[in-house]
Amino acid sequence: MKATASSVLILGGGCFGLTAALELRARGWQVTLIDQGRLPHPDAASTDISKVVRMDYATDKQHTEMGERSIELWHQWNAQWKENLYHETGFLVMSRGALMPGGFEHDSLVFGTGRGHSLHRTSAERLRECHPTWNADAYQDGYLNPRGGWVESGRVIARLAAEARAFGVQIHEDVAHPRPIFANRCCTGITSADGRTWQADATIIAAGAWTPSLLPELREVMWATAQTVFHFKPENPDPFTPPHFPVWGADIGRTGWYGFPANADGLVKVANHGPGRRVEASALRSLPDGEEARYRAFLQETFPSLAAAPLYSTRVCLYCDTFDGAFWIDHVPDRPGLIVAAGDSGHAFKFTPVMGGIIADVVEHKPNPWTRRYRWRERTAANSDGARASS
Ligand SMILES: Cc1cc2nc3c(=O)[nH]c(=O)nc-3n(C[C@H](O)[C@H](O)[C@H](O)COP(=O)(O)OP(=O)(O)OC[C@H]3O[C@@H](n4cnc5c(N)ncnc54)[C@H](O)[C@@H]3O)c2cc1C
Repeated sequence: MKATASSVLILGGGCFGLTAALELRARGWQVTLIDQGRLPHPDAASTDISKVVRMDYATDKQHTEMGERSIELWHQWNAQWKENLYHETGFLVMSRGALMPGGFEHDSLVFGTGRGHSLHRTSAERLRECHPTWNADAYQDGYLNPRGGWVESGRVIARLAAEARAFGVQIHEDVAHPRPIFANRCCTGITSADGRTWQADATIIAAGAWTPSLLPELREVMWATAQTVFHFKPENPDPFTPPHFPVWGADIGRTGWYGFPANADGLVKVANHGPGRRVEASALRSLPDGEEARYRAFLQETFPSLAAAPLYSTRVCLYCDTFDGAFWIDHVPDRPGLIVAAGDSGHAFKFTPVMGGIIADVVEHKPNPWTRRYRWRERTAANSDGARASS
């Protein structure tokens, strides 16, 4: 604990807000976390049954390192929680053509191998033999990284919220329209639509896709993007379980398609890490016309035995995209007392175990090799994480 504890308010209880709350509390801060809904909020990006955990980031050294460290910590959390919420099924990435330099699959394979990981090159022949639900006539080259898998994200958020409460973080849920308040540009705290106010030395906005609506100066560099998710419930989920059916990406850098093995309820989740649709975070969420047909056409080409599986549920979930695909974690210029921790760009959940440390180091102005990339910055060329399809 610090000798003189400072106080911090955190707006938002997704993986950014909760991990920041836990880490700052551990460092001696008085922490209050405020969310517009109940945790895990059903509309939050961090909710849902699953998120991919991977270290595969083409030649992106920082995110590869963060993935490696996070995977170690996911294992530690499994042990600490005495419950496996992280499932190390492996991450299988396949390509329709031969792996080529510059492609996500090729570069991740070479980079990961160079870092000492044992990745298994997977030809069409091997795919047919080891992963028989795949259409091996369509996918000819790829690899399996045994170190990777998926995490039960909604349950992780519920866990972290319970830990935060037990650890002395004050959590206020269902607060009506909380927003930061200022005196002479200094952020002094948070107020809500029903007139409640909270004051603290520092305020962190960790409101995911809602962040640019709370801080309009961010709208130029950060916005909400709607992405769809489909949960299928095949009559027999067994063929869709590991080791034959690990977490997968199907030409992901070009098409965005990825998915998960069946969970304990027999649900097989499929989604697309593509450009998505730019929206307002508060807008009603609906599937685009023809979305189910698009999913089923993909499944017919890739996993024919899943193409006619009954649809269990769908979800529209929001990325908080930044122009360059890097997170946004920094003090707000000219707004003393205010920090932003957002801009997840659709790939942050896997880093949950390291996120609190990154945010807390920014809050406390401590050196951290990973924070520079997420600093406040001018808009420059567009970019994204290597696994994201651009069209
Ligand atoms: C479809 C989809 C699939 C994804 N798949 C993966 C994956 O496989 N692997 C991976 O690593 N990442 C994945 N991601 C990204 C990951 O989910 C996000 O990076 C991460 O969850 C972002 O967390 P967050 O805390 O920033 O935001 P959120 O989880 O959205 O949390 C924001 C919180 O802020 C609250 N809030 C909003 N406005 C206010 C306000 N005014 N006051 C108070 N509280 C407020 C919300 O209620 C919410 O609880 C995916 C995202 C989506 C949408």
